[in-house]
Amino acid sequence: MRWALLLQEFSFKVEHCPGKDNELPDLLSRNPQEDAPADLGDTDRIYAPEQTPPVREKQTPQLNLFEAAKDPLEWIRHQQQQDAELQAMAESPQVRRRDGLIWKRRPGTNKWRIIVPVNARDDLLRQHHDADTAGHPGANETLRQVQRKYTWPGVAKDTSDFVRACTTCKEAKKYRVLPHTTSAHRPEKPWDTVALDLMGPYPLTADGNKCLLVVTDLFSRWVEAFPIAATDATTIAVKLENQVFTRWGFPRAILTDNGTQFSGKAWASACKTWQAYQWTTAMYRPQANPTERRNQEVKTALRIHLKGRPHVEWDLQIPKILFQLRNRKNAATGKSPAELLLGRDLLLPGEWKISRQFDEEREASFERVRQHQAKYQQKYVGDDTRLAPNFQVGELVYVRTSPFSKASKDFCAGLALRWEGPFPILRVVKDGIYVVGKGKGMTVHVSRIKPVEEKHPGPAKK
Ligand SMILES: [Zn+2]
Repeated sequence: MRWALLLQEFSFKVEHCPGKDNELPDLLSRNPQEDAPADLGDTDRIYAPEQTPPVREKQTPQLNLFEAAKDPLEWIRHQQQQDAELQAMAESPQVRRRDGLIWKRRPGTNKWRIIVPVNARDDLLRQHHDADTAGHPGANETLRQVQRKYTWPGVAKDTSDFVRACTTCKEAKKYRVLPHTTSAHRPEKPWDTVALDLMGPYPLTADGNKCLLVVTDLFSRWVEAFPIAATDATTIAVKLENQVFTRWGFPRAILTDNGTQFSGKAWASACKTWQAYQWTTAMYRPQANPTERRNQEVKTALRIHLKGRPHVEWDLQIPKILFQLRNRKNAATGKSPAELLLGRDLLLPGEWKISRQFDEEREASFERVRQHQAKYQQKYVGDDTRLAPNFQVGELVYVRTSPFSKASKDFCAGLALRWEGPFPILRVVKDGIYVVGKGKGMTVHVSRIKPVEEKHPGPAKK
């Protein structure tokens, strides 16, 4: 029934689409675990067979999801069960069994990591280095990502060997030069200073984008990026206000290069409205070119993601790149942007299954939040009889509207006013049921009635 209401809002035609013409949705709607675990190593099997690539048309939303990841819990559990040596390990203060898995305590903490058996290590390294959610981080970062949840003897050496042997990294990454370290203005809080970079022009995409606007919070190094069609000050200002400042707050200063769009009146007026300083890279850090370095990460990631893909799809890769960068430890801060900004890393698909077991300290603090939420709910969503006010005949009240959306009228129930009135109470039918309104009135349950708030008394006359 709720679906029927929801669908009223659209004008559409129902057509039968035979399964053989509809392979991708069919495959996606199938549970990938159904026929596991016989060949868990073969994730390819849940992809649709290759066909001639479809012709791209503007405004056709493309399915561009992260590649399918293994269910981390199921998969490791299965691998651990195959490892006789691991199975023989005794429980101790450093080793324990939970959820059918064997965990090892991280020295000196209450955090637990899953012990990875030999034959799962390569796959696990691939997941944390090659996968769409990882994006070929360097050896240290790959190790950090792995060690968030997993461990095994020699994990550090295995990881650095693995990354050193990666051909994609060799092909895509710039030769490292010494990083610049000095900074004239060092931001002290998240979203205090943001840097804007314009990258491109790149090949014109199906959505009409040709440049990339990159917005970085210089404290946490959290990156937002938007494919854009034009690089004028107004386009940029609108993106910033609608997509960045309303989400993260307005900054003290905005750092840009000397591009013409940032030296005109439109940009100056936008900054004035936001009460933000206009800084240019030259004054921010005269001895270096930080723009170049910030872009480098995004550029390298783009090259990696576009390997074997048409370059014109660059804008489709941006969200994945952002996900990786937000989870990647930054050399300057020593933490990932997500950790600094949100206090936690962004979970990979299925990682929620592990995270409850993995960090007892954080779990304890979440538990306090859950208890607080439960109390809060009890307080405000108690039983009706205690909370519902009693209304007197003649009292003025508002009544909750129950409009239905109609496709034809540009009317949307969700956007309509929620209360109508005020109406007088005409009659009390029984506990909680009232007749309200004009003439014959309407019968309404107390849950749909609220009192007209009393007017604030005016200032006392002298
Ligand atoms: Zn690599």
